[in-house]
Amino acid sequence: MGKFVYSFSEGSKDMRSLLGGKGANLAEMTRIGLPVPYGFTVTTEACTRYYEEGRKIGDDIIEEIYEKLAELEAVTEKKFGDKENPLLVSVRSGSVFSMPGMMDTILNLGLNDETVESLAKLTENDRFAYDSYRRFIQMFGDVVLEIPKSEFDVIFDGQKEKVGAEYDVDLTTDDLKEIIVGYKALVKKAVGRDFPQDPKDQLMEAIKAVFRSWNNDRAILYRKLNRISDKLGTAVNVQSMVFGNMGDTSGTGVAFTRDPATGNNKLYGEFLVNAQGEDVVAGIRTPKPIAEMAEAFPEVYKDFARIAEILEKHYKDMQDMEFTVERGKLFMLQTRAAKRTAVSAIKVAVDMVGEGLITKETAVERIDPAQIDQLLHPTFDAKAEKAAETLTKGLPASPGAATGKIYFTASDAEAAVESGEKAILVRQETSPEDLAGMVAAEGILTARGGMTSHAAVVARGMGKCCVAGCSEIIVDEAAKSLTIGTDKLVEGDYISLNGSTGTVYRGQIATVQPELSGDFGKVMSWADEIRKLKVRTNADNPKDAAQALAFGAEGIGLCRTEHMFFEEERIPAIRQMILAETEEERRTALAKLLPFQKSDFKGMYEVMEDKPVTIRLLDPPLHEFLPQTEEDTRELAAHTGIPYEKLAQTASELHEFNPMLGHRGCRLAVTYPEIAEMQTRAIMEAAIEVAAEKGVDIVPEIMIPLVGSKAEIADVKATVVKTADACKEEAGSQMKYHIGTMIEVPRAALTADQIAEEAEFFSFGTNDLTQMTFGFSRDDTGKLIKEYEDKGILSDDPFQTIDQEGVGLLVKMAVEKGRQTRPNIKLGICGEHGGDPRSIEFCHRTGLDYVSCSPYRVPIARIAAAQAAIKDAEK
Ligand code: ADP
Ligand code: MG
Ligand code: MG
Repeated sequence: MGKFVYSFSEGSKDMRSLLGGKGANLAEMTRIGLPVPYGFTVTTEACTRYYEEGRKIGDDIIEEIYEKLAELEAVTEKKFGDKENPLLVSVRSGSVFSMPGMMDTILNLGLNDETVESLAKLTENDRFAYDSYRRFIQMFGDVVLEIPKSEFDVIFDGQKEKVGAEYDVDLTTDDLKEIIVGYKALVKKAVGRDFPQDPKDQLMEAIKAVFRSWNNDRAILYRKLNRISDKLGTAVNVQSMVFGNMGDTSGTGVAFTRDPATGNNKLYGEFLVNAQGEDVVAGIRTPKPIAEMAEAFPEVYKDFARIAEILEKHYKDMQDMEFTVERGKLFMLQTRAAKRTAVSAIKVAVDMVGEGLITKETAVERIDPAQIDQLLHPTFDAKAEKAAETLTKGLPASPGAATGKIYFTASDAEAAVESGEKAILVRQETSPEDLAGMVAAEGILTARGGMTSHAAVVARGMGKCCVAGCSEIIVDEAAKSLTIGTDKLVEGDYISLNGSTGTVYRGQIATVQPELSGDFGKVMSWADEIRKLKVRTNADNPKDAAQALAFGAEGIGLCRTEHMFFEEERIPAIRQMILAETEEERRTALAKLLPFQKSDFKGMYEVMEDKPVTIRLLDPPLHEFLPQTEEDTRELAAHTGIPYEKLAQTASELHEFNPMLGHRGCRLAVTYPEIAEMQTRAIMEAAIEVAAEKGVDIVPEIMIPLVGSKAEIADVKATVVKTADACKEEAGSQMKYHIGTMIEVPRAALTADQIAEEAEFFSFGTNDLTQMTFGFSRDDTGKLIKEYEDKGILSDDPFQTIDQEGVGLLVKMAVEKGRQTRPNIKLGICGEHGGDPRSIEFCHRTGLDYVSCSPYRVPIARIAAAQAAIKDAEK
């Protein structure tokens, strides 16, 4: 028989998977002697059993819960349901990974018609007691009995209006009593039974509700977005209550040991006097900055600052803490590693290395590669921002710049984004139901709520720009409009948000590109020291190549040549080549293309200098270059003087049912060697000229795509070698060059040992390799793959993260076979996967030499490669 319930004094931070994050940290804080209200944790294993046993809590578990409850009563010297000294508890969910706002907490459990009176007597504070009771009925009604919150709000707001109360705290005890009567009537009407009066019943129902909430829609969506397994289950923490709403010497707050937006090493947070915790988290009242707590409660503040420091040193990481002050005494209610923006993550990591708290490896490990994206994306152009009209200011809740049309509901924002708009989600305050809309939107604007409100926390986690607590804004969600003073904006109007300053602008604002310097540069250089994989980029033009270099690329892993043909002045020449009926005609057309290609490649070499550049010979099916519509065909006919009928006929001759499996890749060079000749000549002449002009060593890497057999590569290679050697001789150059291939047809992987006899390097074209291994057309199966993911048939989209079991096996096999034949063969990957952190880890483990990815992914790949190396070294 296992153990399913642990007292806080029995656990530790290393028991996360059993106790959940919250429970493990409550136990740890208890263990190191911090003031934590006593309690116990029902484990995630109990949750698993709850589901296994048909949504029932087993008798043995119930018994254990009662044992721990008795212990809790003994420790607190209070008793459940006692008229003299009643025990009240909070029931808090806590999964293994923190899921902010996703699961529900019930406070003040244990209150009933009798204990509320004893609580009033005991504390000599009627108002406090009845306020607690009405909160409890409301939370229990919402979370356990599933009565919509809004129905409670109607009663609450109705009473406020009736007595003319501006704030919640203006309500008198009698008002609260009246609200309780209303609440209880609502419960009776909604669920057909009285509000439960027995605290033990309340407790069991609440625990079950927490288990149930593991599978509510918001929780499921959050897990999906964050790749958290549905199987983990949640723990439940039962903790004796402390009261922040016991008058002016009480309060509650949330704080970070450093600034989660900027990383500044200063206590950062908010608190409210005379309030219970949920008021801060839910963003219902706009709280005060933590610094003001130093004035209101100087002693407690000092104590809190000391504990914050202890916690940060203990966990060696920035903490996000929840606390409550009850009549001048501080209690810690939660601590966890703080969610932070990329800017903050970088600064904190660098500072903590400087403070000797963590190593460079830990610093690099802590950076979330996906988050790096935030630092690479545009901010507002300073001039344009200065010139823009400021509408209002709110709290800088999550940095970044966002421009878009305003929408007032999550679903409207989602729909707008689906139809190709950029949306800004405007809400009174967000709630977990808004998650999908927040994901879709460019940015989020809320009228209420503080820096630690739901909107702020979730937006920071997603790296999404958010301005919160914009108190001047009056949102009319029903009318889909907002007013700021005399200004009125309606759905579809453009606004811009600066999440770093909290400013809200009218209209759209131009954006500028970021730079890699300062702390970011430092972390990147540590990553570079650690990683084994080289990082190259996929770039087809000098501008992208330069951007990638600025982001730290060490070469080009894939330069596609077809994009170069689409420019207006070239397309006639390429069409002439395609339409040519004889080799001679084709050569004439190719001769026209040669100078263009050569200047393209010179542009690339001028940027990259002696860094390696892999240029791929023409890859796509030729019909892609022909006009696609009748109108375009007629225009081309008029332009070239070739009869329309002949053009249409050529197009239909080139038509293929499966163009991706058709006349493309090296098959073009096999059938039209003169194309490969022209391209080779362009590459060699460009390289020889730039090498001479710049005085640098260039070793061209010529890559033959879509090879499936040794004979195939040998055929094309002969053309390339003959041409390249001729170019060298003409120029009197000794330039070396390498010829390699893409491994993207499964047969190439299977016969890699033979192919390596011809190829000096392999570059895994994992887009095509995935397409051909699964037999999934990558252009058509997007929807299908999503359905497969939803059904759990695929755990990931194999075009985004490499399928290690199948496609990965081919890669491994090709690596082994390639090295058997040619021990020093150069190995890289140039598919989309080259920028995906999990695929990069795979590449590291498989022993590739480099990954190649799009320019904006280069910094992400550098970090991911370092993390893979660290992980490997730890094994
Ligand atoms: P979440 O995971 O949504 O933050 P919590 O379980 O942390 O939910 O609870 C929300 C808030 O409820 C806490 O921040 C705290 O202020 C309050 N709370 C929880 N337990 C207690 C308690 N035992 N005494 C007083 N307040 C509590
Ligand atoms: Mg919390
Ligand atoms: Mg390909």
